[in-house]
Amino acid sequence: MDCLGQKIAPQGTLLSVIGFHKKRYSTVSINKFVIVSIKKIASVLFLFFVFNAQVAFSSGHEAAKVSSPPVLQSLLEGNKGFAQKGEFRTLGQKNSLQRRAELAIKQNPFAVVITCSDSRVSPEIIFDKGHGEIFVVRVAGNIVGPHEPGSVEYAVEHLGAKLVMVLGHERCGAVTATYDAHLAGGKVEGNIGSIVEAIDPAVTAAISNGATGIKAEIIEQCIVQNIRLVASEVETRSPILKEAIASGHVQLVKAYFDLDNGKVSVID
Ligand SMILES: [Zn+2]
Repeated sequence: MDCLGQKIAPQGTLLSVIGFHKKRYSTVSINKFVIVSIKKIASVLFLFFVFNAQVAFSSGHEAAKVSSPPVLQSLLEGNKGFAQKGEFRTLGQKNSLQRRAELAIKQNPFAVVITCSDSRVSPEIIFDKGHGEIFVVRVAGNIVGPHEPGSVEYAVEHLGAKLVMVLGHERCGAVTATYDAHLAGGKVEGNIGSIVEAIDPAVTAAISNGATGIKAEIIEQCIVQNIRLVASEVETRSPILKEAIASGHVQLVKAYFDLDNGKVSVID
């Protein structure tokens, strides 16, 4: 009896909570009342679980969307070590025979860096990253023409890269050559001419915006303008990347590398 009594007690408690007073109702009305009450509770529980499922889904979705800030943080942290101590983990523990064997089968770079061919601007070194971590698109003046957006799209769509960085640098020879050609008003011969032609809008814009100072200072302003125009060009030339950036699945970052102190700075 004690055992039965203990089992009955919770039911009685539940019925009293939902307003049930058995002495005043027939068996039929009691059953209807219980069924209706159970339906109401089930509805509330259903809505509760749907709401939580939506929260869980949107949280996961948001997590996917905001995965790029940690990528930028990782790059900047790596650069901090490079700038402050000249440390290179890339040649140490991050690369190994095992890692090389893994990468021979599959790659998952977390970032794309579009940068200059300049030998002092190797992304893996200045961000202190290892083999297979950065997908690099390099051309003098870090410009973007007909082919580069396809490389970036491949890294984003097929390899899962979450960040695209356009990285210009101090004393860029390509921008300097373009500035000189711009002032001389002439065309640069050979294939270098096509690079100069691509950078010239940045030089024109910087001068139009009132770039001032000695030549080196004006060139630095042209370099920054070139970074901005190339970042814009990435979206103009690639609707796929533009959509990925607009939806928050990929982060587009503009950055400048200072050769003197080794620092990479994100710019507007
Ligand atoms: Zn350069």
